[in-house]
Amino acid sequence: MPPLTDQLDLDRMGLKPGGGSRFEIAVRVGEFVFGHQHYSLADDPLPVLVDASRTTSGFVVRVRAKPQIEGPCMRCSDDFGLALKIDHSEVHEPALDGELASDYVEEGKLLNVAALVRDAVGLALPPSISGPLDEHGQCTACDRTHEQLLELGVAGEQDVAELEQREQHAPDPRWAKLRELEL
Ligand SMILES: [Zn+2]
Repeated sequence: MPPLTDQLDLDRMGLKPGGGSRFEIAVRVGEFVFGHQHYSLADDPLPVLVDASRTTSGFVVRVRAKPQIEGPCMRCSDDFGLALKIDHSEVHEPALDGELASDYVEEGKLLNVAALVRDAVGLALPPSISGPLDEHGQCTACDRTHEQLLELGVAGEQDVAELEQREQHAPDPRWAKLRELEL
């Protein structure tokens, strides 16, 4: 496994202006919680490919990774995994413009790469972590089918507004009911 890294010291990478360096690190990402549902990465620490380059007065740090997020399908609550791709370039050019100073850089040189990668994974997540539907409106990647859910009294379709509401408030009581039925 590549070295576990939370923070990159930009000054100590020894890059000259115009120069660059590519290396692999492993980054702890941690869990994501939506409503009361927990999602985590299949590989955490996550292997991340870093391209760091020095500009005339600052840095550009590109992070790339292919995490897989796992947890309950937001439509049917069965186990589900979703492959993601992250490719983010973080610019840190405080000498050019204050607005180009990266929020992830502390003390002018320490890049909080753990926070950067975690946010990139969060931004790569779709509004609904759920499997693709077939023509009958059934989860194709999960075992539970739409008809079974209708029998259980759980709606199969959820729009984004409903999901957002669920994130803000207590989880839908139908989910608790569904879990009881599964037991
Ligand atoms: Zn599903």
